[in-house]
Amino acid sequence: MPVNNLAHDKSFPYVTPDVFETDSGVRFLQSPGVAVISVPDVCLEGVGQFLSGFPDDLGFSDYLLDPTVLSSSESLCKFAGQLCYLSFGPQRTYNENADKYFKNIKMSSHGSVLEHANISMLWWGISRTLTHELVRHRAGYGFSQVSQRYVGGKTIRFVERVEFQDNDLLHQWFLRRIERSYREYIELTEYLVSLQKEGESSLSAERKTDLRKKVRQASRALLPNETEAPILVTANVRAWRHFLNMRVSEHAEVEIRRVGYEAYRCLYSLTPLLFDDFEVVDLIDGTKGLKTEYPKV
Ligand SMILES: Cc1cc2nc3c(=O)[nH]c(=O)nc-3n(C[C@H](O)[C@H](O)[C@H](O)COP(=O)(O)OP(=O)(O)OC[C@H]3O[C@@H](n4cnc5c(N)ncnc54)[C@H](O)[C@@H]3O)c2cc1C
Repeated sequence: MPVNNLAHDKSFPYVTPDVFETDSGVRFLQSPGVAVISVPDVCLEGVGQFLSGFPDDLGFSDYLLDPTVLSSSESLCKFAGQLCYLSFGPQRTYNENADKYFKNIKMSSHGSVLEHANISMLWWGISRTLTHELVRHRAGYGFSQVSQRYVGGKTIRFVERVEFQDNDLLHQWFLRRIERSYREYIELTEYLVSLQKEGESSLSAERKTDLRKKVRQASRALLPNETEAPILVTANVRAWRHFLNMRVSEHAEVEIRRVGYEAYRCLYSLTPLLFDDFEVVDLIDGTKGLKTEYPKV
């Protein structure tokens, strides 16, 4: 499947959304941003030391001379799988047939070898609703999310749901709502700061950063689910596959499906052989979904 509309920088894909402003300058986004920022850095050179200790007639030392280059994730996961059976001799699957190798891994549910490759992405232009669903995924994921206790003020932005974007009334309501939310948030923050200065005990703290947290953790209570919640997501390839299967399905919520689809396009462009079994399907609401024969590897 060709990957269109992906800009590349140092070979890592990213997708950049526009940022809009209301009349009074409140910022909002209408689609997700995705930027891959880390993939495995693989060097098998040291493996040669291990392979050289076996009898020459096994031909293990040729393993590193395979002329076909794989992506770093593919190379790492293939080595992991071939280590299991010491498949380093001439009978092994060569890199030019790595597609068959990984098909077999997926078919036989030997997916633990895919856990070695971690890929990190920054996601933005996504709402707190989405990240609440996202962080339910546990096995094989790492998350770092902007703190609403620590960060606020001018950095607050909002995300307009796709259902509101093409309907004038819903769009106007959205604009009004986020202007009101932002204004009330600032008013509440300022009032809490004034109470804090007057010595209100529930807002007291010894350190300056704690003072700020005491105010923001209270004033964030009125921020809506449509507040933007940027998050760094790291997952291994097995976990990414599980995420795509669960969240880019027709049963998933449309916002998480949308960012999941962009994540899939990035993953596929980086390391196609680990994601080439996913088939893109057009869903009734105009969004894209994914299907695979191997939902659980
Ligand atoms: C369409 C949809 C609707 C949903 N609706 C709801 C809802 O109404 N309410 C709600 O609370 N949640 C809901 N969820 C969230 C869902 O229940 C999961 O919490 C979420 O999808 C994370 O997936 P996971 O449990 O597979 O976790 P992951 O961390 O992604 O786990 C991957 C796999 O590892 C294994 N695993 C992970 N942790 C454990 C464990 N502790 N013990 C044993 N095996 C484990 C399981 O095989 C699991 O599938 C929904 C999800 C979807 C996709």
